[in-house]
Amino acid sequence: MNLEYYVEHCRSCDSYLSEVARKEGVCSDCGSEFSVTQRKYAIENPDVYLSIMQKMDGETCTVLEAADGLVDGEILEVYGVFAVTDCGIECLNHFYAIGSSDLGDPDWVRHMSEKTWVVPTDFEKALERARAVHGFS
Ligand SMILES: [Zn+2]
Repeated sequence: MNLEYYVEHCRSCDSYLSEVARKEGVCSDCGSEFSVTQRKYAIENPDVYLSIMQKMDGETCTVLEAADGLVDGEILEVYGVFAVTDCGIECLNHFYAIGSSDLGDPDWVRHMSEKTWVVPTDFEKALERARAVHGFS
């Protein structure tokens, strides 16, 4: 993926995005929305944001493509579909987030392993890392 091209264009209609559109996060041609912050984080940390991950349908994409419009926090590390962010843990294929203040709950692993879309080992690694990042021992 060409990061420079990606951040300058609408991912829906491929129109070139003006400076204003890039600041507002809305394409002026088709009206589709994108994440200004995720694109900014990607430029600051391309190693993480351009890494390749597997989507639900088995296809692959970059972390940026998955996070654009879905994730709020700055992604620090990725384990499967789980992103450790400065907000806690966010999911790269569902609107699903665990806020940093909730990371200490001892039930997360059991709770998440009941979900059909969760790979438990990925979640456990993400949780361990997120707890370390956010000051839980
Ligand atoms: Zn567009």
